[in-house]
Amino acid sequence: MPNGKSSLAKARCPASPRGREAARIEEIFTRLEAADPHPKGELEHVNVFTLLVAVVLSAQATDAGVNKATRALFKVADTPEKMLALGEDGLREHIKTIGLYPTKAKNVIALSAQLIEKHGGDVPCDREALQALPGVGRKTANVVLNIAFHVPVIAVDTHIFRLSNRLPLVSGKTVEQVEAGLEKIVPERFKLHAHHWLILHGRYVCKARRPECERCIIADLCRFEGKTI
Ligand code: SF4
Repeated sequence: MPNGKSSLAKARCPASPRGREAARIEEIFTRLEAADPHPKGELEHVNVFTLLVAVVLSAQATDAGVNKATRALFKVADTPEKMLALGEDGLREHIKTIGLYPTKAKNVIALSAQLIEKHGGDVPCDREALQALPGVGRKTANVVLNIAFHVPVIAVDTHIFRLSNRLPLVSGKTVEQVEAGLEKIVPERFKLHAHHWLILHGRYVCKARRPECERCIIADLCRFEGKTI
């Protein structure tokens, strides 16, 4: 009975180690969802183009720092055409408080030109086309795909990397390993918002220097040896 055998093999016994781990992960996301059913990113934007620009500007910078600069910038340049009209020098003036701004200004102007030339001024919704834009790597592409186009991908940033290794959800030495691991273990129904829940939990509770375990809603499910409770 090869067929019967294989379907039995696929069933996950809740009492098995794998079953218990799956139940633990399910519970982690169930609690994060209950605490924040409709999580939102913190980078301010007014359309898909300004989201892309904000994410490019946010590399090695805080969302708050980026928002401070982009509030005025997006009033004058919220389309690729207006960004090109502003020009590299004009853009530099707006973003000079953000780290690495000279390179970022160059990239934003170049990607605006490329969007007009190759995509009719629209932001493409596939990964390959996004990653072909200047200054856009896998993480930036994932953030845009997730927030703007509702693709259930998880962009692993420093907060997600730390939290994932601490809990652990997935232990990995590189961002790529963690992203691939999360892709496998996060239940489908949580994938769209997992990115935001994990970032926000890492940013505000499971902080790098001193995690605030005493107010952590998943503390009993966490196996981090450095837990503060
Ligand atoms: S218990 Fe502490 S270390 Fe574990 S996830 Fe919560 S805040 Fe982070």
